[in-house]
Amino acid sequence: MSLAVGPSERPLAVVREVAALRSAVTPWRAHGETIGLVPTMGALHAGHMALVERARAECDRVVATLFVNPKQFNQAQDLASYPRDEARDAALFESGGVDLLFAPPVSEIYPEGFSTTVTVSGLTDCLCGIARPGHMAGVATVVTKLLLQSLPDIAYFGEKDYQQLLVIRRLARDLDIPVEIAAVPTVREADGLALSSRNAQLAPQQRALAPLVYRTLCEAGSRILEGVSVIPSLERARKDLLGAGFDKLDYLELRDGETLAELFEAKPGARLFAAAWLGAVRLIDNVPLDSLRA
Ligand code: AMP
Repeated sequence: MSLAVGPSERPLAVVREVAALRSAVTPWRAHGETIGLVPTMGALHAGHMALVERARAECDRVVATLFVNPKQFNQAQDLASYPRDEARDAALFESGGVDLLFAPPVSEIYPEGFSTTVTVSGLTDCLCGIARPGHMAGVATVVTKLLLQSLPDIAYFGEKDYQQLLVIRRLARDLDIPVEIAAVPTVREADGLALSSRNAQLAPQQRALAPLVYRTLCEAGSRILEGVSVIPSLERARKDLLGAGFDKLDYLELRDGETLAELFEAKPGARLFAAAWLGAVRLIDNVPLDSLRA
């Protein structure tokens, strides 16, 4: 997917130190301006830009962050191959109306001797919390830091990473961080594939299969709504994906959209979740059951 870079009204300032970030946002807050935060790992696509757009529409000032967080990668190869292009990302942030980009080096976020980890229990005992050991704690730790460093009024996260969104909501509430956590619906390609920075790593044949994750979740959800039992519906969906050529499934489950408790029958707020591998690329997606009602 290509994203157009157009002229922006305000030039983008880039800071790399927490002190500089604080110096920039303090006067905005003093003048009563509201601040929206959009945390990213870069390799921007239209999903990230939907968060920027929401923040731009709802806040006086928009701060974006660009930090490929080593603590949330549980595989060294995944971290090493993560796409990076700061100049392109900065141009896109600028064209989206971002005021300030915080793009720190790893040493600024995790200085020598860093020894604190934020863990959210319960919500992380399933899905990616199990499939990617350490990942959720890595996310929770860095997002806690970014929230405390920038003290935004609203921070924007995508429903694409739904478990992450719930974990961040919970940590903000539990730690009394005075921020609203806003959820932005998943942005998809025309064929249904959820936009992801990792999609670029798919070979053409894998890219052709990738939309099946979403399609299969929708089909399973529709069957459940038609009255087919949950367990066989999910079993068939798993078989469909593996039969189509997916190499491995980490999970394909129906869970409560607030507690993430596993569900064996349909109920309001339920969501289907899947994580599926095509070669070395792991795709995740989720669909609210209610969105599939005819
Ligand atoms: P990432 O750079 O992958 O860490 O993602 C940064 C933010 O963008 C997270 O809040 C993601 O949930 C969100 N995001 C990623 N992909 C999408 C998408 N397809 N639609 C909406 N938000 C997304």
